[in-house]
Amino acid sequence: MAKKLTPMMEQYQKVKDQYPDAFLFYRLGDFYELFNDDAVKGAQLLELTLTTRNHSAKNPIPMCGVPHRAVKNYVDILIDKGYKVAICEQMEDPKKAKGMVKRAVTRLITPGTQMDLTGDAARQNNYLTAISAKDGQFNLAYTDLSTGELKTTTLDSVNAIINELVNLQSKETVVDGQLPEELTDQLAKCNILQSHQPEILKNAEVSYLTQDLESPDQQHVVALLVSYLLTTQKRSLAHMQRAVAYRPSAFMKIDHYSKTNLELMTNMRSGKRQGTLSWLLDETKTAMGSRLLKRWLDRPLIDKDRINERQDKVQELLDHYFERSNLQQELIKVYDLERLAGRVAYGSVNGRDLIQLKTSLQQVPKIKYVLETLDSPVFESLTKRLDPLNDVAELIDRAIVADPPISVTDGGLIKTGYNKRLDEYRDAMNNGKRWIADLQAQEREVTGINNLKIGYNHVFGYYIEVTKVNLSKIPKDRYERKQTLVNAERFSTPELKEKEALIMGAQEKSTALEYDLFVDIRERVKKEIKRLQKLAQALSELDVLQSFAVVSEDYHFVRPKMNTGHTLKIKDGRHPVVEKFMGHQEYVPNDVMMDDQTDILLITGPNMSGKSTYMRQLALTAVMAQMGCFVPAKSAELPIFDQIFTRIGAADDLISGESTFMVEMMEANNALVHATDRSLILFDEIGRGTATYDGMALAQAIIEYVHQHVRAKTLFSTHYHELTALEDALPRLKNVHVGATEKNGELVFLHKVSAGPADKSYGIHVAKLAGMPDQLLKRADQILQKLENKENSLPTPAAENAASYGADSSSADRVQESTAPASAEAAPVSAAPTRPAPAPAVDANGQMELFAPAPKKTRSNKGDKILHQLKELNLMGMTPMEVMNQIYQWQEKLK
Ligand code: ADP
Repeated sequence: MAKKLTPMMEQYQKVKDQYPDAFLFYRLGDFYELFNDDAVKGAQLLELTLTTRNHSAKNPIPMCGVPHRAVKNYVDILIDKGYKVAICEQMEDPKKAKGMVKRAVTRLITPGTQMDLTGDAARQNNYLTAISAKDGQFNLAYTDLSTGELKTTTLDSVNAIINELVNLQSKETVVDGQLPEELTDQLAKCNILQSHQPEILKNAEVSYLTQDLESPDQQHVVALLVSYLLTTQKRSLAHMQRAVAYRPSAFMKIDHYSKTNLELMTNMRSGKRQGTLSWLLDETKTAMGSRLLKRWLDRPLIDKDRINERQDKVQELLDHYFERSNLQQELIKVYDLERLAGRVAYGSVNGRDLIQLKTSLQQVPKIKYVLETLDSPVFESLTKRLDPLNDVAELIDRAIVADPPISVTDGGLIKTGYNKRLDEYRDAMNNGKRWIADLQAQEREVTGINNLKIGYNHVFGYYIEVTKVNLSKIPKDRYERKQTLVNAERFSTPELKEKEALIMGAQEKSTALEYDLFVDIRERVKKEIKRLQKLAQALSELDVLQSFAVVSEDYHFVRPKMNTGHTLKIKDGRHPVVEKFMGHQEYVPNDVMMDDQTDILLITGPNMSGKSTYMRQLALTAVMAQMGCFVPAKSAELPIFDQIFTRIGAADDLISGESTFMVEMMEANNALVHATDRSLILFDEIGRGTATYDGMALAQAIIEYVHQHVRAKTLFSTHYHELTALEDALPRLKNVHVGATEKNGELVFLHKVSAGPADKSYGIHVAKLAGMPDQLLKRADQILQKLENKENSLPTPAAENAASYGADSSSADRVQESTAPASAEAAPVSAAPTRPAPAPAVDANGQMELFAPAPKKTRSNKGDKILHQLKELNLMGMTPMEVMNQIYQWQEKLK
């Protein structure tokens, strides 16, 4: 079989064998071709026409191709779908090649190494990660190839590592084949491509990049990552920054579930950025600023001084409107320096990129000046970090024309005056026309032929044309015949030849020289990459800080006072995103008051009244404060949280798609196990995914556990009204409720949070808002009234106040009973609060009346009729509620 391959297919196969897991794009003239399985699969994914290479053969080779100019689009599609693409180029000019044209893979593009991102993607980092395992620990390294950032850390569980990867939105991770199966399974589940790197390289680049790391395990994982890059990328990694180790515990931890749930980066419904905190806060002017903002949002600080440092700067910028707008105007002109630095290292910059670099650098002195006029010590160190790289800016300014072409090989990009030899060539080119005109005049004079002219064509080059009538006048010794036309003859002369060589040679030589000069400039810029990256970092920070100042002003945020204790006082807090959509006027601000004696707020109130919004607004406020931003409130005093946990009741769980009770309990457990007294927990309607008693029992036990063992600041919303009685038993728990009133039988939400429990549930009103049929709603009202008018059956006073649908006196009593003795130190209450069946009308009295032997005097026609009806009752065709109602009616009749 192999013998039958043509030489070209043989070459193809050799290359393909080295890249079995990638689509091989094989350059053939103006096309990249895919063959065999690549072609079949590629044609389908890229919607290309599938053809064959040798139709007539027995087993024609499937083939499809893409034009080389459009290759990027096709590569992007495959990478987006999580595949790899190997680009195989012709390494010599096919016209000059002897035998088979040499070909080689010049680049392997993978989801984690994709660069040249445009649009929205440019404002995001693309992280390639690497993982190695040792002694039950996991080492992680990550890099963004386009910016050169390189970080590493050590984590202690599969969960932690998956969480970190999902947070980084890593699409590809490099592995060394020694990971536990549990982890590789999880990676596959999360659609993270695993790239195997068998060999760890030991070279200068690897030692340079790992030299600052103390842990040999972290050195190993960084070396694994770098080895993969060196083997696949085949280009300079000069812009990679030396690896820095970080500890996740140095930042506020928010697991991925909570991040999604709080809509920090992506909107749960649309999956887009609009409607998220990141979207709201992002008034940055540069792509690198936008990326840094996301990194800050991903890792809020826990160090009070660092938080204050950022807040000081935001304050300063907020107080100086004009300086701030000047800064913005300069920042707008700053291009993506981080990625420009990456491209300089890769040697893929062109003249235009260098002009962008120059323009960006030229803004730096202006930015420094504005910061200096602020005359504030808080900006001193940042200002010092703003190195304008004058040498680089001047070099580019001296060398590159203002509007260079895209291509770097066709000339026209180096300025006159930069290089003497180039100027001479250009002189030759520019003067060529004049020389020719002068020569023509001279020849006319010498020969006396007035219509003699000098022309040019591609085949013969420059020539002197003399009409036939004048042929006798030409100086035969100098004129050499080139071409004969009908009416004229064309000649050349030694002098003309010389000029021609000068003009034609100058063109070629000047383009070649320009390219050499450009490469030299690029190399000189490359030497300054580290400085460029430092500048980029400082500018990004400034950009994010000005963005915070802008949003703080636009949305009336205030500077929060951070404490290292346990006091949380928010006056008139708001949910910034809901408020933005709703309008400042419409949004009802709310306080969150939790002194160091209060750990838990138990929130009750009707559905849709604003419980979740209230809880989320606290979490967002904490995140914003710890990023260094101001917060949506009239005033705020906040503790520094180490972690935020959120859990939304299974019924509301739109995110995981598996809205099972199990998931809910696992998440809740995660919070209970990992939260500390410095954490924030949001439990929204927890326990609602199971039967009522079950759920209520769990909810209560969870609250007690948090109260006694965890002591994290906790907001717990519930529709189990009975839980409000816990306030008496748990000293650090307080009831709050979101108010609603009835107006003309309609429910009006006040969205106002006040002390104390809610007095009522409003299920039927909410059903009405949801547009349920009038008839049904009337019926529900009737049933409710009957259930609430339990004069005969449940005469206890609590029954009148029974709040929620189905609540009764005994349940409220028992909750109190069961929790009353529970002091903070007491063991959690073991007995779940029990209630009779959800329908209180089915009470003991009713049943007695029916099934106990009836007193003789009631044995009447009425009784017989009822007994007959009972016998005939089609139980299977009725709902429990209908049964209850029937029984109720019989009771009424028997009175
Ligand atoms: P719950 O959790 O009680 O069911 P949500 O928090 O989901 O209620 O809020 C329901 C709706 O009420 C929100 O979508 C929002 O439009 C509105 N809302 C919530 N809080 C406020 C508020 N403080 N001011 C104005 N409208 C609010």
